[in-house]
Amino acid sequence: MPSGVLRSFLETRLAELEEQGLGNSIEPLEGPNGPVITINGKSFINLSSNNYLGLATDERIIEAGIQAMRIYGAGAGAVRTINGTMTLHAELEEKLAAFKGTEAAIAYQSGFNCNMAAISAVMDQHDAILSDELNHASIIDGCRLSKAKIIRYRHSDMDDLNRKAKEAVESGLFAKVMVITDGVFSMDGDVAKLPDIVDIAERYGLITYVDDAHGSGVLGKGAGTVKHFGLSERIDFQIGTLSKAIGVVGGYVAGTKPLIDWLKVRSRPFLFSTSLPPAAVASCIASIDILRNSTEAYERLWDNANYFKRGLTELGFDIGASETPITPCIIGDEKKTQRFSRILYREGVYAKAIVFPTVPLGTGRVRNMPTAAHTREMLDRALEIYAAAKRELEREDAG
Ligand SMILES: *Cc1c(COP(=O)(O)O)cnc(C)c1O
Repeated sequence: MPSGVLRSFLETRLAELEEQGLGNSIEPLEGPNGPVITINGKSFINLSSNNYLGLATDERIIEAGIQAMRIYGAGAGAVRTINGTMTLHAELEEKLAAFKGTEAAIAYQSGFNCNMAAISAVMDQHDAILSDELNHASIIDGCRLSKAKIIRYRHSDMDDLNRKAKEAVESGLFAKVMVITDGVFSMDGDVAKLPDIVDIAERYGLITYVDDAHGSGVLGKGAGTVKHFGLSERIDFQIGTLSKAIGVVGGYVAGTKPLIDWLKVRSRPFLFSTSLPPAAVASCIASIDILRNSTEAYERLWDNANYFKRGLTELGFDIGASETPITPCIIGDEKKTQRFSRILYREGVYAKAIVFPTVPLGTGRVRNMPTAAHTREMLDRALEIYAAAKRELEREDAG
């Protein structure tokens, strides 16, 4: 019998969520997360995946994974520091460092756990972290885990950051101060103002930490937001994920050799959680090789993104502050946003509604991620459906 306390906690809280329309129904895909997906036997044009370059289903990457699994086995067998480091892991880290233009890199099991690992390996209760208010959940949790004082600054507001950095440093209360930001923000598709952030950091002696999960493969000819701004020498921590544009799974930090040496002895997920499985590592290596040797998928991604964004704008949609393939279609009212997304779904477009509290009240949106793998026909069809959905919503509002 489950404990009565737990049962009543769960029943009450689940009912509350359901009432607020925040219940989560998960629909399993009956195949790969490509440009078209199948759910319950029905096909959808998929505008919800982070598989920006279509690499998750690339034959070369799949084949590399299969080969590695045959040679090295299904699992790595131990944590990295015992004997779960295979030559593959070392090769991946070398490739990541070369890809990012840093001295060294360290791979983790996911982007999320990379933030759990890296922040608390360096920051502690004597320190402070300046954190953009729209930073990803894993950054927020990583900061909390470190026990450093968290000072939130307004989203991309450089005056606010400058003021709070000055205050924190001049207070003399903290041994170290870090500034931490997403490279690309996932709800609006806007890019962090890294040149200004670096200037402020250098003015006050801050440690700099950029989580470029959505920027790698997408900006800077694929190398990411830091490279895009030419700041590779001036950012201490470059975080990335291997699960979005790279198309597989994993996370990493790229930085100086002393930083990576430190993380290898002090970051807990590296020491206490089994390393990435061989197939995933080999697939990541193949993916990075493709990215470094060809900009074809990168160019197709941007062509498709620009085409789709122009299409939505011409239809009269508000795509907000997007500067990347992440394209919000801002509807506003929460209920209306949900209704809009349901019409899209009915007509065969898979794009998720994102509403308060994930984004501010009154800025409900449907978020679109066009990828390199979409064809023009798919994007045209999606735009037709958007146009029809808009007309349907307008008719409903009028009637
Ligand atoms: C997606 C994301 C992560 C998590 O990466 P996973 O590899 O999926 O765990 C971390 N940080 C940011 C900014 C992200 O967008």
